[in-house]
Amino acid sequence: RMVSNAPTSPQEEALERALRPKLLDEYVGQAKAREQLEIFIGAAKKRGEALDHVLLFGPPGLGKTTLSHIIATELGVQLRQTSGPVLEKPKDLAALLTNLEKNDVLFIDEIHRLSPVVEEILYPALEDYQIDIMIGEGPAARSIKLDLQPFTLVGATTRAGMLTNPLRDRFGIVARLEFYTPEELARIVRRSAGLLHAPIEDDGAFEIARRSRGTPRIANRLLRRVRDYADVKGDGRITLDIAKLALTMLDVDPQGFDVMDRKLLEAVVHRFDGGPVGLDNIAASIGEESGTIEDVIEPYLIQQGFLQRTPRGRIATLAAYRHLGVAPPRASGG
Ligand code: ADP
Repeated sequence: RMVSNAPTSPQEEALERALRPKLLDEYVGQAKAREQLEIFIGAAKKRGEALDHVLLFGPPGLGKTTLSHIIATELGVQLRQTSGPVLEKPKDLAALLTNLEKNDVLFIDEIHRLSPVVEEILYPALEDYQIDIMIGEGPAARSIKLDLQPFTLVGATTRAGMLTNPLRDRFGIVARLEFYTPEELARIVRRSAGLLHAPIEDDGAFEIARRSRGTPRIANRLLRRVRDYADVKGDGRITLDIAKLALTMLDVDPQGFDVMDRKLLEAVVHRFDGGPVGLDNIAASIGEESGTIEDVIEPYLIQQGFLQRTPRGRIATLAAYRHLGVAPPRASGG
């Protein structure tokens, strides 16, 4: 439940896959990460070498998995995909690594959740394309070295700060993904609507974009729900009015905040007098895991200036009071 905006059904996952851009040129926004990758991928290809290891970090739904697929496609190699929690034993990772072909990409999602014993295997693999594996048990056990093909690890995590230092140090390319602007999200919505054969007007697309928490996954999800609404309540066309009505029905407010966003802001304002209040107290108060609050909910509220993070805890800003229609206390934060 760490990644609360993740796809919830196989159908939704298939749709998400269908909407994924395949090439760097189709990947909207993230100019900095894209520019870096374009150069480094070009250089690796020219020399016929494996690309340096890449660490992608940022909140869920911003395009880390999509980018890892694009990296493999642009390099013209295969991608193997796994995740930190799935790799339980060193031999799980060893099996994946020994099956990689020259210059392949290994994508490890949620890389901060690798167990320490598995992480140990990874270090020499990343550094020298070698692994040490144990053969046999007890006093007869011995370790042998295996050579691997050169490969690229693409690791994804919600927060770079959750990685151990030795692991973080082994990534040559580190890209932080940022929230998307409404204009960028509108491009994504229009592109997705085209792929879904859903007629959409520009201001309808912009309304969905504006209310998608800066996140492509949410934009695509809201688009599909708004399309359903347009099919049933209208003539199928996604207009500004249809988008507004559908989003209100979906409990997405005019600022683009959802039920959990408002719950969090209301808790800080009403129950904790605007803060400062610690993460764990907020978590207990709204019945959500503190990890989810920190990775999924609060980054957008902070980026939008509704919440502040201080050493003493979270503080609601004046914008939060205004949004909730509550008179701010004198000398409140923000
Ligand atoms: P993450 O791995 O960061 O959680 P994903 O890569 O799974 O996010 O992206 C979620 C969805 O958002 C994908 O279906 C993809 O279609 C869309 N998406 C993400 N980034 C972009 C982008 N830059 N341009 C277009 N679509 C994107």
